[in-house]
Amino acid sequence: MIEKIARPADIRHVDGDLPVRHRYTPGVAGEVFFAALRERGVLLGSRCGACAYTYVPARSFCERCFAEISPDVEVGPGGELVSFTIAFVDVDGEPLDLPQTFGLVRLDGADALLLHRVMDPPDEEPLEVGERVEVALRSAPARTGSILDIEGFRVLG
Ligand SMILES: [Zn+2]
Repeated sequence: MIEKIARPADIRHVDGDLPVRHRYTPGVAGEVFFAALRERGVLLGSRCGACAYTYVPARSFCERCFAEISPDVEVGPGGELVSFTIAFVDVDGEPLDLPQTFGLVRLDGADALLLHRVMDPPDEEPLEVGERVEVALRSAPARTGSILDIEGFRVLG
């Protein structure tokens, strides 16, 4: 029997906490990607010659044909906004002080899309799919080798 539950409160649940811990490792290609981001302020992708497809962030294998690939191509910093959404609540459902815009961007030279926040445009024009954006990085001394070294996508006029 498949029963549609329309109200989350109707789902059987047990209150409590689960002590879950995790450690994220970016992998071989991911470490190269984050080191390049921190030290040189560039975005590294991986190109699969067999598929003619460029991933970003860099990968160590092609997700389409499983060929071994390496972080071998710089992409961006410019790109095209392919899609976006505006969030009014955080991951816990709590209201945000200010709405945040998140965008999927195809960086120049890449095929894969990169998700990150979209910075407020300089004017009051509404955001549109297809707009040109560029990656805005933190200053070199402030970078730590994290995806947050990218402040966001800056909308170009
Ligand atoms: Zn491939």
